[in-house]
Amino acid sequence: MKVLVLNSGSSSIKYQLFRTADWEAIAFGLVARIGEPKGELKLNWREQDGPLQSRQDALPIPTHEAGIDHIVAGLRTSGALAGFSELAAIGHRVVHGGEHFQRPTIVDDRVVEAIREVVPLAPLHNPGHLSGIEVARRLFPTVPSVAVFDTAFHQSMPPTAYRYAIPEHLYTQHRVRRYGFHGTSHLYVAKRAAAFLGKELAGCNLITLHLGNGASATAIRAGRSLDTSMGLTPLEGLVMGTRCGDIDPALHFFLSTNLGLDTAALDDLFNRRSGLLGICGVNDMREIERLAAAGDERAKLAIGITTHRLKKYIGAFYAELGKVDAIVFTGGIGENSAGIRRGACQGLERLGIRLDEAANAARGQSGERCISTTQSEVGVLVIPTNEELEIARQALAAVGR
Ligand code: AMP
Repeated sequence: MKVLVLNSGSSSIKYQLFRTADWEAIAFGLVARIGEPKGELKLNWREQDGPLQSRQDALPIPTHEAGIDHIVAGLRTSGALAGFSELAAIGHRVVHGGEHFQRPTIVDDRVVEAIREVVPLAPLHNPGHLSGIEVARRLFPTVPSVAVFDTAFHQSMPPTAYRYAIPEHLYTQHRVRRYGFHGTSHLYVAKRAAAFLGKELAGCNLITLHLGNGASATAIRAGRSLDTSMGLTPLEGLVMGTRCGDIDPALHFFLSTNLGLDTAALDDLFNRRSGLLGICGVNDMREIERLAAAGDERAKLAIGITTHRLKKYIGAFYAELGKVDAIVFTGGIGENSAGIRRGACQGLERLGIRLDEAANAARGQSGERCISTTQSEVGVLVIPTNEELEIARQALAAVGR
């Protein structure tokens, strides 16, 4: 059997097709620029143990329905998918599930309505997901669609971690609280870390650091999310590519009173022009590291603020957990940047965190690995994330196959 994973955005759809026998991704690709005069279609597929093949087309893709039609046509002509009867499930990534969803859920009309209800909490993401879900249900009425929520893993947080210190009615009437995101990635790397340590997930306390263009940290106690750095939206917490993370909320009043910025301008400032980009003018960590190595002071500061914030969260989550089995780095930066990992762990020896400098800095390493010394009480691991694989597995489990 096969599972198709769809990540539908407002103008693009990313997809991967998995074979459940060995969880190999046998095809993957992208439909982009939906609704623009020239759309983009990318398909990569592998025939039985053969090399990876690729195809790319430019053609108008007016709607999500046309996009998913193209994806299915590509999968069928490439031979990756013989027919719909091969599909055990379609897994849909959904960023925000509000408080409705603690686990992956087979989509019916009520689930669609519940996802629609929380659109105000994720206006940039949930509408695109809904388009993908509705089209998939229409095109493949016999294949169950399963919604897998970025927020679901964090629903185990206690109110002490998820409530803000603001008037109660904002929570009871408007559901203003901390939700947390990247849950599928945090759960995936937590499971892999437990296996790496030779333990059950339920027996592990972990601090997982998903550091990509978006970044978040999660404290995991006995395999469940206890606290996480993102909040009502994915803006809170760590320094990100273009997002500021934690700031004094009074900055909003200051900027609106003194600079006349309205809510749209503040949204743009904090979500798209802050973070690494705001500090040093660049949001790609590879480029920032190159600039810093060449002596650029702003690039050095961007790295310094990033690792300072990371250390703050490691310390806070360590205190919440009491005992930590491992710190896990993942995401484009977490998996690849030895400098950020070193900066985040430096000076934490008293907490039992001892980085093996050589293992951390070893070039050409990929895959799951331990980068702490044998004396380190807390393991430090690098675990590549794979959100699509986790979505596929959860979708299959949800349909009971
Ligand atoms: P993601 O959102 O997980 O794809 O991660 C994107 C971020 O990872 C960008 O800031 C990239 O610059 C960063 N990244 C990818 N590869 C490397 C690398 N080899 N060294 C440092 N940063 C990297």
